[in-house]
Amino acid sequence: MRTITVLSGGHGGARFIAGLLHGIQAGTLPGVAPDAQVTVIANTADDLWIHGLKVCPDLDTVMYTLGHGLDHERGWGRTEETWSIKDELEAYGVPNTWFGLGDRDIATHLVRTQMLEAGFPLSQVTEALCRRWLTPVHGDRVRVLPMTDDRVETHVAVKDPDSPSGLRVVHFQEYWVRLRAGVPAEQLVFVGLDEATAGPGVVDAISGADLVILPPSNPVVSVGTVLGVPGIREVVRAASAPVVGISPIIGGHHVRGMAEQMLASIGVDATAAGVGLHYGARSGGGVLDGWLVDERDADAVDTLRSAGLRAAGVPLWMSSDEATAAMAAAAIELVAR
Ligand code: GDP
Ligand code: CA
Repeated sequence: MRTITVLSGGHGGARFIAGLLHGIQAGTLPGVAPDAQVTVIANTADDLWIHGLKVCPDLDTVMYTLGHGLDHERGWGRTEETWSIKDELEAYGVPNTWFGLGDRDIATHLVRTQMLEAGFPLSQVTEALCRRWLTPVHGDRVRVLPMTDDRVETHVAVKDPDSPSGLRVVHFQEYWVRLRAGVPAEQLVFVGLDEATAGPGVVDAISGADLVILPPSNPVVSVGTVLGVPGIREVVRAASAPVVGISPIIGGHHVRGMAEQMLASIGVDATAAGVGLHYGARSGGGVLDGWLVDERDADAVDTLRSAGLRAAGVPLWMSSDEATAAMAAAAIELVAR
């Protein structure tokens, strides 16, 4: 295998890709060439405009993680961050300071916003930003492509007794950051998704890949939105390469984030089997050939197999790049044999 394409969200996807790259370099992935190239198709439905800036949380998390610039303790944003601009905005009483924007991080958003306003599409802006972060570390081994150049935003309807409809709609980031996903997501609205077009290179990266991976990313608001861009699900279904996924749910719970709340809002069981069946086997109209679950969820393997999926249970904690590379190797083995 020389080309691997990963459909990714932010944190879970980025950590997986870091481990995958580690495995490629260490030569521990069965059948994968040492000079294999990785294309990341990143979710952009978390994006928002705030304080006049275009912020792309998942693109940035992938870029900073792979470029060794991510603050791992916080799980987002830059290392050695300072917060002067946020403090100054608060002193002015500017609204929406719940969204964390560090000074260093803001430089990224300034460059992105200026380029967008000068007329460059997000894909070209991302390429330019990645030239700083990825090229020095990975050369041309990794590309990051936004799923679309079009504006797509996930919004969440939450209960609001003061509203005539009984509901209030907030941006996904407000649900996650300000409300801390602490109230049920009554409904998800993917604004602009149905009219979006896959970004440049996205379709070819899937149809021309030797392997397609759905990493342990949020199945609804990360991978779900990537697959929701018109045409992407179809090209995954038709890909000549094997398609393998790794469960973000271990023992009935997400590892971090809010996959449980998101799965509940679309009526899918927050279990390893539930998510695997939600993606479904390609033989039955879904997108997967194989679904890797944690060893703790090994009792789901029979159910998954009877739904037409190759399945196995192995440790799925991304505790180190080595552990993650071992997960990637198990995923590849599952669909390659
Ligand atoms: P986000 O965009 O930052 O929310 O990140 P993603 O959508 O890419 O990934 C979030 C998912 O990663 C969550 O559903 C987590 O359960 C999952 N996740 C995080 N760490 C681990 C891990 O160590 N193992 C597994 N299997 N899943 C993980
Ligand atoms: Ca995200």
